Amino acid sequence: MKKKIWFILPLVILLIAVFVAPIVQKKDSCQKNVVTKHTASAKQLVTTRKKAKSAKLKHADPTAHWTSLTSPVKIPILMYHSISDKPGNSLCIPPEQFANQIKWLKQNHYYMLTPTQAYLVLKTNKVPSKKIVWVTLDDGYLNNYTAVYPVIKQLNSKVTINMITGFSQNQGMLTLQDLKTMKKSGLVTISSHTVHHEELNTLTAEQQKQELVASKAWLDSNLKQNTNMICYPVGRYNDATAILASQAGYKLGLTTTPGFASASQGLFALHRLRVTPGMSNYSFSHLASTY
Ligand SMILES: [Zn+2]
Repeated sequence: MKKKIWFILPLVILLIAVFVAPIVQKKDSCQKNVVTKHTASAKQLVTTRKKAKSAKLKHADPTAHWTSLTSPVKIPILMYHSISDKPGNSLCIPPEQFANQIKWLKQNHYYMLTPTQAYLVLKTNKVPSKKIVWVTLDDGYLNNYTAVYPVIKQLNSKVTINMITGFSQNQGMLTLQDLKTMKKSGLVTISSHTVHHEELNTLTAEQQKQELVASKAWLDSNLKQNTNMICYPVGRYNDATAILASQAGYKLGLTTTPGFASASQGLFALHRLRVTPGMSNYSFSHLASTY
């Protein structure tokens, strides 16, 4: 019996060596392949994600396709107030004149900036188009909704309304609902023109801060935005204003000092161009042209 075992045992070992070992080895190599394949696809996934992330980042830079200028950029910031027929009132531009001027800007291929784009233009000295303009309307008159908004929609143009936030329930002024509707269109940006339209240079630093902070908070919470521009009432400001405005979270400040806006003025002291009633298209074209 013992002899039989000694005879069978080597045979069994031989059989294992010939048949079972290669199968185990094959299985191992299969697993190795699977692991290698998994490692490769994981690497691919990481590469794809990295590519997508960098594409997203590129896409996220709005100035990526803008043109760098060799000389300091100049922005014509047009200043309007009421769009209404009130002869003799220099702050009132007849609706027909306003419509013609927006039409003229469109026909002459002007790119209409938003406050955020204007900020980027000034910071980077890059432009989205050869001709740029920033159309602003101060105070927040109701006619900005009835006479301006239809024109803007029809011509697919962009404007910025500088709202006196404490006046939103006053007769003849824009209501919060008007502001919400216009903002939703993506064509109108609502910026701050303070709460009470007090001349900031006549206020104490604490009072100025109140006007700057409270108007921004009102716009931010009601319109769900981060308001980044303050337009000084009557264009008045003092040394403290820029610091207080920056601390309040604004990035730009507009004055009524006549001229093109440029970075050298300081981002909180930008000049503007006043549009006057009865201005001819010829004068208007000179006003808007930086060339
Ligand atoms: Zn004003």
